[in-house]
Amino acid sequence: MLVYEYKVDGTKQQYAAIDEAIRVVQFIRNKCLRKWMDERGVSKNDLQGYCAVLAKDSPFAARLNSQARQASADRAWASISRFYDNCKIKKPGKKAYPQFQHDNRSVEYKTTGWKLSPDGRHITFTDGCGIGQLRLVGNKKQHIETFPEKQIKRVRIVRRADGYFVQFCVESERQIVHAPTGKQVGIDVGLKAFYTDSEGNTLDNPRFLSRASKKLKRLHRRVCKKQKKSKNRKKARKRLAKAYLKVNRQREDFARKQASTLITSSDLIAYENLQIANLVKNHRLAKSIHDASWGRFLWWVNYYGDMHEVPVIAVAPHFTTQECSGCGKRVYKSLRVRTHVCPHCGLVIDRDHNAALNILSKALDGTGGHSGTDARNRA
Ligand SMILES: [Zn+2]
Repeated sequence: MLVYEYKVDGTKQQYAAIDEAIRVVQFIRNKCLRKWMDERGVSKNDLQGYCAVLAKDSPFAARLNSQARQASADRAWASISRFYDNCKIKKPGKKAYPQFQHDNRSVEYKTTGWKLSPDGRHITFTDGCGIGQLRLVGNKKQHIETFPEKQIKRVRIVRRADGYFVQFCVESERQIVHAPTGKQVGIDVGLKAFYTDSEGNTLDNPRFLSRASKKLKRLHRRVCKKQKKSKNRKKARKRLAKAYLKVNRQREDFARKQASTLITSSDLIAYENLQIANLVKNHRLAKSIHDASWGRFLWWVNYYGDMHEVPVIAVAPHFTTQECSGCGKRVYKSLRVRTHVCPHCGLVIDRDHNAALNILSKALDGTGGHSGTDARNRA
């Protein structure tokens, strides 16, 4: 799936209509969840059927396109099935029991209820929500109109701090022919370097959040100083939200570009299947770990790996830092020790480089477990 995103230019009334559609999505999702909670053994199909009942009972829900209504029910089912999965694998800690949603920001259409203009500059929503025709702006390099309409499988409207956006999910044939590079690479993600690979190269950690922290703190203070419920407070909050959005975009951009570079320059990638959620529990490191956003990076690595048909292998995270990549014996060291010095074979090597070599060899000899889709599922 390729995702093309455009900002939209519309009127106040149109934005209000989008907000209303987003509210209906949340209404249907929460109603479906309520049904699942109240009745035993509700299935995905039951929820799909329930959509029609809801539309009959609530005229405002009927205005939303029927496939979009079903997509809303699917969202409820997604959170239910995630909960079931967590129970099935006996995930330690919280099982993510489905919650009612209060902050939905998007509505998803499938193949009906919208029409793209032939030049790709406008999209018209044709259901009863009254959104009408929106102008698509920005993103001049990508041309959504070059795809046959039936390849566009989903159209999503997303509300963000700086406006409304339309995303097109396009099903595409693999267009990429991967040029073999003869390189197989293990990577060790970390806080010192964003990652270290098995050839000893490192990629600097950009730390977007800590770089922006001064500005964010200032904006936070401004929000606090303004009177509650005042117009100025609303404005200040909007500015703060925009600043966070910028950090998120920088991170996402970095993650995507680095993942793409990594995939095009190798024939196989191995990484350690870290439980990032567990790492974040370490409060001292939580902020830096969150800032590093490996989760998104690994998601993109899997995405591009899929596209280029480059195998991406997640190995289990056992002793990759302790084992010696030279002789395989364990050399215990605390987090502070940056260099691996092996008393058995005399190997002296950077700690993360050693880990990356172990990750690669685990992947190659098959002790690493499975081809990695974990990062993808998580994200
Ligand atoms: Zn050794």
